[in-house]
Amino acid sequence: METKTLNWVKEIKIDLACCKSCKSCMNACFVDVIRWDEKTKKPVVAYPEDCVWCLACECACPQNCIEVIPNIPEPLRSSY
Ligand code: SF4
Ligand code: SF4
Repeated sequence: METKTLNWVKEIKIDLACCKSCKSCMNACFVDVIRWDEKTKKPVVAYPEDCVWCLACECACPQNCIEVIPNIPEPLRSSY
C-alpha cells in the first residue's frame, strides 16, 4: 500500500498487492500525478501536489486498487 499526504486531496492510496500492472491509471491521469516504476512494474504517486481530484484513475482501474481521498474544508463539509 502506497500512501501520500498533500493539500488538495488527503491521500492517494494504491493497493499494489491487487495491482495487475495494466497502466490504466497512469494513462488516465492527465496531469501526470501517477507515473510508472519500470523496476517494480507498478504505478507510483510521483507528483501528488498536482492532483485535481478528478477520480479518473479510480474509474480506470479494473482492479479497484486506487482510492483518492479528498481534503474537504470544514465549512464546505458542514454545508451538506
Ligand atoms: S484523481 Fe485525477 S489528477 Fe488525481 S491522481 Fe487520479 S487521475 Fe490524477
Ligand atoms: S489501473 Fe489499477 S491495476 Fe492497472 S496499473 Fe493502475 S493500480 Fe494497477
